Amino acid sequence: MSSPRNTRDPRTLRPATRLVHGGTLRSQFAETSEALFLTQGYLYDKSADAEARFKGEEPGFIYSRFANPTVNMFEQRMALMEGAGAARATASGMAAVTAALMGQLKAGDHIVAARALFGSCLYVVEELLPRFGVAATLVEGTDLNAWRAAIRPQTKTGFLESPTNPTLEVVDIAAVAEVLHKAGATLVVDNAFASPMLQHPLALGADCVVYSATKHIDGQGRTLGGVILGSEQFIADNIHNLLRQTGPCLSPFNAWVMLKSLETLPLRVAQQDRSAARIADFLADHPNVARTIYPGRADHPQRAIAAKQMSGGGTLVAFEVKGGKREAFAVADALSIVGISNNLGDAKSLITHPETTTHQRLKPEQRAALGIGSGMLRLSVGLEDVDDLIEDLDQALNALSAKRSAAE
Ligand SMILES: *Cc1c(COP(=O)(O)O)cnc(C)c1O
Repeated sequence: MSSPRNTRDPRTLRPATRLVHGGTLRSQFAETSEALFLTQGYLYDKSADAEARFKGEEPGFIYSRFANPTVNMFEQRMALMEGAGAARATASGMAAVTAALMGQLKAGDHIVAARALFGSCLYVVEELLPRFGVAATLVEGTDLNAWRAAIRPQTKTGFLESPTNPTLEVVDIAAVAEVLHKAGATLVVDNAFASPMLQHPLALGADCVVYSATKHIDGQGRTLGGVILGSEQFIADNIHNLLRQTGPCLSPFNAWVMLKSLETLPLRVAQQDRSAARIADFLADHPNVARTIYPGRADHPQRAIAAKQMSGGGTLVAFEVKGGKREAFAVADALSIVGISNNLGDAKSLITHPETTTHQRLKPEQRAALGIGSGMLRLSVGLEDVDDLIEDLDQALNALSAKRSAAE
């Protein structure tokens, strides 16, 4: 591998530059674009070389379940951006979450997690971990006293998302990290919603950050992927062997897609964040919208914490249509640019009705506790012209008034 002219320590470069150049491993052909190493294995000149590499006495790749040059570039670039000592890529966001938690926990341990979790994350905490003897307590993430009260001598780690899905509540990451650290426990933050551009959980005190790279990191709706980041020691002690031996590895092809996506991540998220802020203001003023939730707005319940720990309001907006499920469906169905999909972070704007999709498996009282009403819609703002998006939302919301007056 040669790296012509890329001689500066990438840690001295600004984030956008790291995302274009960081972690690049050039082959002997000195290609400009990162190479896709679609290979399972690697050859050794002599048997003694294989022996040395297996013993760890010589650097080099052994098998793509363990490491692959393209996946490695993606991991290095992510670690550089996040300011992490090490990163490991996984096949999906859920593989990252599961490994980040399982890698730290054993039978007899205890985990505290915020209640407002992505559905599959809730399954891991509430159902999977207890099957292996790990006790779990779910708390209201925004209530620091609830975190304190949930701690036990066996508490090993805490887990949260912020902003939460779909109600975009903001949890004070630094404060929760402090509570957990005092008890000798670690904090894992699922940073999928904020994206790596708008929030840096490690800098706020978290020990581990996980991503569904499926979301903003790919950002164009193509491949699934995940990343686990932490200090070199955290990854070595908790994650490295689990991933090597159990094999939820990211395919080199998907890593290559993600790697190229990182080059444009700052541009994409900045634009989506600006558009989301404008759309949130538009929705808040619309007569057919009962409530708008956006962490960048002054009326957000945790506005001060959002301002402290996020550098933008995010790319998602939640809002409640006046009425209920029927009205929310009517608005979503009347949209012509925004697509109906449960995905997020895509270049294409997407809208979902959480009550009947992402959160339909919850009991009604669980949804009520999370503040998910029948009229709620979650909008993931894409890269279309914001004025086209506002026009699309406006005509869909206005169609409600037309229906109402026709019924009167
Ligand atoms: C999508 C998502 C996940 C799961 O990621 P996959 O890539 O779909 O496995 C986990 N947490 C959050 C907050 C998500 O949005």
